Amino acid sequence: MKVAVFSTKYYEREYLNKANASAGHQLTYFNEPLNNETAVWIKGFGAVCIMLSDKLDDVLIKKLSELNMPLICLRSAGFDSVDINAAAKYRIKVLRVPAYSPQAIAEHAAALILALNRKICQAHNRVRENNFTLNNLMGFNLFGKTVGIVGTGKIGRAFCDIMLGFGCKVIAYDIKESMNIKSKGILYKTFDELLKSSDIISIHCPLTPATHHLFNSIAFGKMKHGAMLINTSRGAVIKTAQAVAALKSAQLGYLGIDVYEGEEHLFFKDLSGTIIQDDLIERLMSFNNVLITPHQAFFTTEAVEQIAQITIKNFTDFETKMPLENEVETININPVLPTNTPIHESI
Ligand code: NAD
Repeated sequence: MKVAVFSTKYYEREYLNKANASAGHQLTYFNEPLNNETAVWIKGFGAVCIMLSDKLDDVLIKKLSELNMPLICLRSAGFDSVDINAAAKYRIKVLRVPAYSPQAIAEHAAALILALNRKICQAHNRVRENNFTLNNLMGFNLFGKTVGIVGTGKIGRAFCDIMLGFGCKVIAYDIKESMNIKSKGILYKTFDELLKSSDIISIHCPLTPATHHLFNSIAFGKMKHGAMLINTSRGAVIKTAQAVAALKSAQLGYLGIDVYEGEEHLFFKDLSGTIIQDDLIERLMSFNNVLITPHQAFFTTEAVEQIAQITIKNFTDFETKMPLENEVETININPVLPTNTPIHESI
């Protein structure tokens, strides 16, 4: 099948080519995103393959339909960047990569905790300047601390195991309780109880209307003074402007984020030669108790390999009329999702 692969980076191409070696699809790579301008390029292709930065709304999906495009394949788990209802309306199938190496993201969340707590970045910078003092580098033991996990799905469960390994007391909040989590003796709490009791909170729920800005000034006010918040899920689960206020008052002690509300204008781009217009992220970067990574939690060899393999399998399943096990159907959409809710979905 001829596939137009949009928003590709060199590191992905290598893995996609390897996964495609036996499948034999004709992959044409475009650096550019799929949008209203680039949509004309898809003429003659049997599928488009897109990334989180490609926002497919009703207008663009209608255009794809007019160009007889039958298939949209996401190289990501999240699918809120695509208007699924519009795809259903224009009878375009949408496939995704629902799961790949949850450990990759869980381990990155743990890395953010350790780096923030033990001030690894400050120490590294200081030592490089021949400053070997310990001033302001004091951390705290993770052993015995209470870690609250918001969202105990695949990643939340992997993260739970890591934190148990450190000797932490883990508590959880989810709208659906997991037997796996309960079998480890972990107690589910209400959201408020989790906020009040946790020394560290790690967010692993999806972005939905219910979780949009879940961490706002009210939630920060209920957290332990000086607690740490880690977000590797979706930027808009945190109301960033209110996180800044909580950091300024020291109510929020540490913030580690791999995702950010306005990330689509920044992440995955080299903007080192430009003036950043996003004042919020600039303010965040001014705190020495904030650590930001550019949506790299998924970025391990194992995860990228799995994304490539499942993506190629999705092309083959569609072409050979096999059951589409990774299809996003309108039934997958959170029923309370209003169409005008601003969602910043990503990998
Ligand atoms: P999952 O579907 O396995 O688990 C999500 C969990 O969140 C479920 O248990 C669900 O019941 C729970 N949940 C849903 N709504 C909730 C709510 N209102 N309050 C509390 N819990 C709620 O998903 P996963 O694979 O564990 O992924 C979790 C998140 O991590 C997703 O949003 C995903 O997009 C994000 N993610 C980030 C990266 C990255 O590179 N940073 C990579 C992959 C996934």
